Amino acid sequence: MDPNCIFCKIVTGESPSSIVYKDENIVAFLDIHPATPVHILIVPHQHIPSINHITSDHETLLGKMYTVAKQLAVENGISESGYRLIINSGPDARQAVNHLHLHLLGGREMRFPMG
Ligand code: AMP
Ligand code: ZN
Repeated sequence: MDPNCIFCKIVTGESPSSIVYKDENIVAFLDIHPATPVHILIVPHQHIPSINHITSDHETLLGKMYTVAKQLAVENGISESGYRLIINSGPDARQAVNHLHLHLLGGREMRFPMG
């Protein structure tokens, strides 16, 4: 838990968010500035600053993030029409929040790259 991290505050409930999934390790919520009609962030509770900080200890957690993403794609009706799963890392990728998150992007009029 990093007290200055917006996603840590969403995990604890200190900051508001539109949560669409939660379990003991992962939370998923709507992106506040959606780039596509469906734009959900899949976020581990644990404050991992970026993909640069993962180790083999995180392999189960990372796998779970993708399983949750797939489930949310089905629930949002985009599993067949198509979607992208993106993790930005570092300044050239425009990572803006330094707490690991997986973007689920889908729906009509999807644009790429983001931003
Ligand atoms: P990234 O560039 O990969 O770090 O993406 C960060 C994403 O977090 C952006 O798409 C933002 O719109 C989103 N975001 C930032 N703050 C919030 C928030 N409080 N609630 C929901 N999404 C947020
Ligand atoms: Zn954090």
